[in-house]
Amino acid sequence: MKILVINCGSSSCKFQLFNIDNGDVLAKGNAERIGIDGKLTYKPAGKDEVVIEADMPDHKVAVTMILDQLVDKDHGVISDVSEIAAVGHRVLHGGKYYSESVIVNDDVKKVIRDCFDLGPLHNPANLIGIEACEAVLPAGTPQVAVFDTAFHQTMPPKAYMYALPYEYYEKYDIRRYGFHGTSHRYVSRRVADFLGEKYEDLRIITCHLGNGSSFAAVKDGKCQDTSMGLTPLAGICMGTRTGDIDPAIVPFIQKRTGMSADELDTLMNKQSGVQGISGVSSDFRDLAKAASEGNERAQLALDMFVYQGTKIVGSYAAAMGGVDVIVFTAGIGENTYDVRAGICKNLEFMGVKIDPAKNDGLRGKEAIISTDDSKVKVVVIPTNEELAIAQETEALVR
Ligand code: ADP
Repeated sequence: MKILVINCGSSSCKFQLFNIDNGDVLAKGNAERIGIDGKLTYKPAGKDEVVIEADMPDHKVAVTMILDQLVDKDHGVISDVSEIAAVGHRVLHGGKYYSESVIVNDDVKKVIRDCFDLGPLHNPANLIGIEACEAVLPAGTPQVAVFDTAFHQTMPPKAYMYALPYEYYEKYDIRRYGFHGTSHRYVSRRVADFLGEKYEDLRIITCHLGNGSSFAAVKDGKCQDTSMGLTPLAGICMGTRTGDIDPAIVPFIQKRTGMSADELDTLMNKQSGVQGISGVSSDFRDLAKAASEGNERAQLALDMFVYQGTKIVGSYAAAMGGVDVIVFTAGIGENTYDVRAGICKNLEFMGVKIDPAKNDGLRGKEAIISTDDSKVKVVVIPTNEELAIAQETEALVR
């Protein structure tokens, strides 16, 4: 069965076509600069990348161009678009409505639209992507929405409520939602398989550490808590995002500087985090290099990241009454062994012990990095959100 996975942004449309029977990626690429000029990068498996610069006024045109490449007589990978059994769409926000992926119908589209306020940068683009596929694929091709928030919908109210007056929850749906759910679900399930354990029997803490970073506490096969909140700004400090700060800082800065709400939003989302602290970069490779050359603020940014990560993992262990497995994933979690080592070293009091011979130098591979006598298994599991979306899509349409 062939499944197309689509991840639409406001001016881009990333895609991967899977043969889900064996997990192979048949082709992948990205349509960029939609509505500006247009550039399509298309890479069929085992063949050279193709770059096409052509006018792409909207997402419908972009999706049409992608499909044209998939069936192209020279570098296509299928002979007809009817071979695409279903399309899985990454959708940022499903609000409080969905705890699972769903086949798209008018009600689902209404929910995605109702959540525009909660995911203003992503949800409108995600809906455009769905409608573009509906318009250009054969009628009846199922479209599946896979929500970033869905996995976290099992959190109990004590974990997702904020201590604001209750009517703010009732009127405006202000609560913790959490993000990266597809990744947290994928790596937590995968680690259970990898260890040969029953998913429901494990207390797992998943650490998705990338440009955006979040943690999840998973017990009884369900998400119990997660570090991102109403928006992906909460939790650990990130590439350019503050993570948790005293909320009173916001009106404080506003009064001092006269910044508008939008300017504050930009400050906290785009100019803060390890970039804001170090003044060097949001990229952990640059930070590590600067720190090794004696840049104290780069070192401070790294120290803050490890310290805050430690506190979150420690608090989730407390929340679950213990932890059996800690999983590291995403760009930093998979590649930056001193961050893994730093967090685990701080957790030695809980019986976490990692083996430097297994951890040092490990990049992007599934591996246990704890010692045999560690009370907690520490595992690196590379995330694969696209494959996870394809698998969820297949499960729904089969
Ligand atoms: P995004 O949230 O954009 O998907 P990623 O998961 O790609 O982010 O993570 C980006 C972060 O991962 C960057 O800080 C980068 O420094 C780090 N990273 C990615 N690859 C490596 C690598 N090979 N070595 C060290 N760090 C890496």
